[in-house]
Amino acid sequence: MEKLFTLLDENYEEMVGIRRHLHEYPELSFEEVETPAYIAAYHKKLGHEVREGVGGRGVVALLRGARPGKTVALRADFDALAIQEENDIPFKSKVAGKMHACGHDGHTATLLGLAKALNHMKSGITGNIIFIHQHAEEVAPGGAKPMIEDGCLDGVDVIFGTHLWAPTPIGEILVKDGAIMAAADKVEIAIQGKGGHGAEPHHSIDAVTLASQFVISAQQLISRRIDPLKSAVLTIGHFEAINPFNVIADRVKLAGTIRTFEEDVRTQMEQELEAVLNATCLAFGASYEYRYTRGYPPVYNHQKETEFVAQLASTVPGVEQVKTCPPFMVGEDFAYYLEKVPGTFFFTGAKSPEWETAYPHHHARFDFDERAMLIAAKTLGKATLEYLKD
Ligand SMILES: [Zn+2]
Ligand SMILES: [Zn+2]
Repeated sequence: MEKLFTLLDENYEEMVGIRRHLHEYPELSFEEVETPAYIAAYHKKLGHEVREGVGGRGVVALLRGARPGKTVALRADFDALAIQEENDIPFKSKVAGKMHACGHDGHTATLLGLAKALNHMKSGITGNIIFIHQHAEEVAPGGAKPMIEDGCLDGVDVIFGTHLWAPTPIGEILVKDGAIMAAADKVEIAIQGKGGHGAEPHHSIDAVTLASQFVISAQQLISRRIDPLKSAVLTIGHFEAINPFNVIADRVKLAGTIRTFEEDVRTQMEQELEAVLNATCLAFGASYEYRYTRGYPPVYNHQKETEFVAQLASTVPGVEQVKTCPPFMVGEDFAYYLEKVPGTFFFTGAKSPEWETAYPHHHARFDFDERAMLIAAKTLGKATLEYLKD
């Protein structure tokens, strides 16, 4: 393992360079062109077998060890977000309105740096390593699903992935068996009332009061209907009635997100949200449209592989603590890989000790401590080599 760590230390400057290059040229989900081309070229130079356009815009590279054996897949996503960067850094985004504000530039640099190190060690490797570079993680339906349908997991025995995590101090690795990230669904609603004069409510059906009542009642699903030992989040983030102040609204549009961990809770939210909507509208003679769209399923880590990574991570240079974390209510399409093959997804702490607080992911001032890439690469690399060993 010492050899892997030394090689990665030697690759660190290059990894930083790759990260900063990608950071300057962010591309949005399902619009990635230069990024996958850059990744494919890097792997080709290393002599890996490369497949481009996998499931749309993904890149899959294969490193064959010296002898046949098991196959490990490692995944990094590479899309950016529609955010105008506000950081004042030398490698600030050169593209207006687009920014790597989730650290996917770092994920890609980590995986490329690791690919180079493992390539140097291939004469001693039994088995195969598949590098899955995934497009479009940020926007459902996401890139993972079509990449799997296009065969990126064929022959894979195990998959490992990590997210650089800015809220967590560098040196910490967060693991969790079972659900680590939530299902992320979307609901879109329109309430159709009957517009009228603001002074004559009895001749109208006020869509604004009905929508308001629905938003409040729907929160009672969380407090009164969901099993208190399970969890769900409902956030109605969009409430739209484009209407003059003295006119009763004809129509209100709502949209929101629902986060859950269990299938039964997810189904309950989907059904009972509509029941509340139906009852609210029925009482006052309004009608409605209801559309519930299932996004990514929950990220469900496998026990054996999680324990495997937790154990080996504690002796990776730079790792001071391996902690079991509570699940996060954010979503990730890594979930789809774990529905097909065993594996685990963990967080690599990336908050610099110099920062009092870190800006959250998806913030215009988001950044991470680049040294976390080295820790992530060493942990993923060690997991790969140890898994292939037995
Ligand atoms: Zn993100
Ligand atoms: Zn992300």
